[in-house]
Amino acid sequence: MDSYLEKVLKETNEKNSHEPEFLQAVEEVLTSIEPVLKRHPEYKQMALLERIVEPERIISFRVPWVDDAGQTRVNRGYRVQFNGALGPYKGGLRFHPTVNQSIMKFLGFEQIFKNALTGLPIGGGKGGSDFDPKGKSDAEIMRFCQSFMTELQRHIGQDVDVPAGDIGVGAREIGYLFGQYRRIKDVYEAGVLTGKGLDYGGSLVRKEATGYGLIYFMREMLKADGQSFKGKNVIISGSGNVAIYACEKAREYGANVVAMSDSNGCIYDKSGINLDTIKKLKEVERLRIKEYLKYHPSAVYTENKPGEIPAVYNIKADIALPCATQNDIELQAAELLVKNGVIAIGEGANMPCSNEAIKYFIDKGVLVAPAKAANAGGVATSALEMSQNSMRYFWTFEEVDKKLDDIMTNIFKASQESAKEYGYGKNYVAGANIAGFRRIAKAMKSQGII
Ligand code: NDP
Repeated sequence: MDSYLEKVLKETNEKNSHEPEFLQAVEEVLTSIEPVLKRHPEYKQMALLERIVEPERIISFRVPWVDDAGQTRVNRGYRVQFNGALGPYKGGLRFHPTVNQSIMKFLGFEQIFKNALTGLPIGGGKGGSDFDPKGKSDAEIMRFCQSFMTELQRHIGQDVDVPAGDIGVGAREIGYLFGQYRRIKDVYEAGVLTGKGLDYGGSLVRKEATGYGLIYFMREMLKADGQSFKGKNVIISGSGNVAIYACEKAREYGANVVAMSDSNGCIYDKSGINLDTIKKLKEVERLRIKEYLKYHPSAVYTENKPGEIPAVYNIKADIALPCATQNDIELQAAELLVKNGVIAIGEGANMPCSNEAIKYFIDKGVLVAPAKAANAGGVATSALEMSQNSMRYFWTFEEVDKKLDDIMTNIFKASQESAKEYGYGKNYVAGANIAGFRRIAKAMKSQGII
């Protein structure tokens, strides 16, 4: 390994030894850009890698709120402003009990390269809280969002930092956050948040964008291999925003989506998952996926068991789309998927495959659509929402969808070309890392030592 790279990896490990997810994300990117470093010896002298792995700023704050029973509760809020070389920090907010600094930093780090790949003027950031929205009333969600924004508003702005949704943060939460921002700042700054409702500055296609974008990227990846979605059996982990719209578009392209899941377990419906039922359960009623059986008694539900491979990966399929959370597919699950004949993996979630799993897939000739590239459609459409807000104008569904499709097709081409140029063949994980890194490194070099 290149001695500069080795030194940076060692120092990053030592400094952040308590942040395993962050270290995993750093290792995945840095090990694949080794050939780029050979062509740019100046990066060492300007400590480019040391600077890229250090967030420009991490903000952490107290979020007190009162539950329906009158009890005061306290959560921790975060915003990691990782890298602003390409534009205002941009990245979602995650509300989930597992949120901690390591998760925030891994997501913020990934976001730098993802945003660079879109070709749009957005820097990398991420935020969230260890608040658990499950089982909370609407009023509790609103009070939490208001308290969270009361602190966050000091640190964001349409030209500074523009948050959006992620796990546990959808249109409802963005609405409450935006309302509180407007109330405190006394200004209608539509571009300060994205993922807004269509009636107050949101963009058409933003809701569908990450899932559709994933399938657009995969369409190109499969096409380059002489394949397509037509007639393929697909399994999807998760049944949230990304999973639902990946399912919708994959079906439009002729795939048969046979399984979807949530954190409790998975539904297998061999004649094809009924997406209307999933949308009703998850987008409207906020219920567990198990309730699917009430409407479709011939489907099969399997509960997840702690410490075991998530049940959804036990189902035989040609294509797997992990659209739930990080490290959903570890080596054992990867081995099972390959044994069951999977030909392609589409990472809808952020870092859903461990580094060992990715290596295994690539060694076995399975095509991998890497998260940074394949799920960039969400943030790309967020940037299109910011453009429309600046113009005080709206594009039609077809216009935004066409721009999204073009962006995803270009991201695939950039990943493919970089993989080819640096001798990585069909390893689009490395290709995407290199394409994203080259853009951000160039901008950082131009802007001097900051
Ligand atoms: P949602 O909150 O809408 O849905 C999350 C889904 O994943 C739910 O089905 C949830 O099940 C499941 N899930 C969450 N945590 C776990 C866990 N620890 N174990 C098993 N299942 C889990 O989130 P999104 O669909 O927005 O996000 C999904 C993934 O996509 C995340 O990795 C996110 O970072 C990534 N992403 C999202 C983008 C977006 O635009 N929304 C953009 C780019 C990436 P349950 O309800 O049981 O918790």
